[in-house]
Amino acid sequence: MKVLKFGGTSVGSVESIRNVKNILAAGEGKKVLVLSAMAGVTNKLVEITELIKTEDHSAIAVIIEELKTKHEETIDALITDASLNSKAKSFVANVLNTLQELTQSEYSETIYAEVVTTGETMLTYIFSTFLTHSGMQNSFLNAKEFMHVSNLENPDTNYVGELFQQTIKNLEATELYITQGFVRIDSKNQVNTLKRGGSDYSATILAAAVQAEEVQIWTDIDGFHNNDPRYVENTHAIAELSFEEASELAYFGAKILHPQTISPVIKRQIPLFLKNTFTPDLPGTRISDEIHSRGLKAISAKDGITAIKIKSNRMLMAHGFLKKIFEVFDTYETAIDMITTSEIAISLTIDSDRNLPQILEELNDYGEITVENEHSIICIVGEGLIEDKSTSRLFELLNDIPVRMISYGGSNNNISLLVASKNKIQTLQGLNQKLFEHQKTPQFV
Ligand code: ADP
Ligand code: ASP
Ligand code: MG
Repeated sequence: MKVLKFGGTSVGSVESIRNVKNILAAGEGKKVLVLSAMAGVTNKLVEITELIKTEDHSAIAVIIEELKTKHEETIDALITDASLNSKAKSFVANVLNTLQELTQSEYSETIYAEVVTTGETMLTYIFSTFLTHSGMQNSFLNAKEFMHVSNLENPDTNYVGELFQQTIKNLEATELYITQGFVRIDSKNQVNTLKRGGSDYSATILAAAVQAEEVQIWTDIDGFHNNDPRYVENTHAIAELSFEEASELAYFGAKILHPQTISPVIKRQIPLFLKNTFTPDLPGTRISDEIHSRGLKAISAKDGITAIKIKSNRMLMAHGFLKKIFEVFDTYETAIDMITTSEIAISLTIDSDRNLPQILEELNDYGEITVENEHSIICIVGEGLIEDKSTSRLFELLNDIPVRMISYGGSNNNISLLVASKNKIQTLQGLNQKLFEHQKTPQFV
């Protein structure tokens, strides 16, 4: 069994949806297909959730009408058979009626999740009907029946696997299952999400659950690039990454993969391929446990970072002090990404301000606190990176850009810098020039 995931742009237009069908038709064997919503649809649904809060029902009605038109036009272009066409349209109409009813409720986290996951429900059904119309047998699966993920960081993939097997048990034998990414059922048995961009994570959770032989993540770019192509010119796709390299890059902001994507497949050693839906013949990137080359591979950036400095000339080096500090963050379920210490101060970073006021109140007992927000962590990754002499060039960057923190040596494959977000693009470009442009023969080919 293979798991294939196609992202928003891959299913964003009639043309792209046809491409996806051709890619599926070309591959053999059993497949589980995980689809996102059409590009732009989830953002519209998020807008609706904001309008629920302000009870702006006329603005909601306008968006629902837009969504109806978009999906009906897609159905008309793809499905000409009258009965399948009207079947798909009535499915979409039902989903949008339910959405309309949901918008009458008071805003809650569950309402948010039910609303924003609607795009996946519509698109998967349309796609499944389109394949049926094209003579490709398939089964449409409701992900809410098996994507029961209580612990977002550490999903019980065995349980998901059991539920998946129960779901397909009574269905006609088929080579192709089609289901929704992004959605999950949480520990309270309520609809929830895997967070924005979460369909990648849906795919790897399912891959672990069904013990797939591989996962393919199809998107709008030809693989994992060595730097963020949105900000840096002349980036290139990397042929191979280890699981560790890819998970560091994803966690530290490489948008091509949801931050948690890699963890379910590491445990089961399932290789993951990143491929471009629009140029399927290109090799893309293979992510696995095999390390084919050492040295610098790629740079990514994670925004929304807050730096906290605790200055305490009395207590810092006393044993137990750091433990007390970390306990405060633990109490408020806030992960720490970077840490540096000196004799009298500790600086650390967090990526969620949700419980910041309570954290600061408790930290006040331990010393003088300084908080700086709007920072970005720049993450430089490659197996054995710190043994690679050319890496030292990155320190030349300190002449041009104020770097707030550096983490070096925490692992062999990562160096992280903390900079103000306003300097992020300059830092990414500067690092690209210093670390990659001198490489005549890139080490990653
Ligand atoms: P999808 O909708 O298919 O999930 P995303 O937009 O989430 O696609 O991810 C693909 C995009 O990620 C690319 O178009 C690119 O702009 C961006 N991106 C950021 N960093 C990288 C990187 N290191 N390599 C490749 N793409 C990246
Ligand atoms: N459609 C969802 C989003 O836009 C999930 C995904 O695309 O992965 O966040
Ligand atoms: Mg994505």
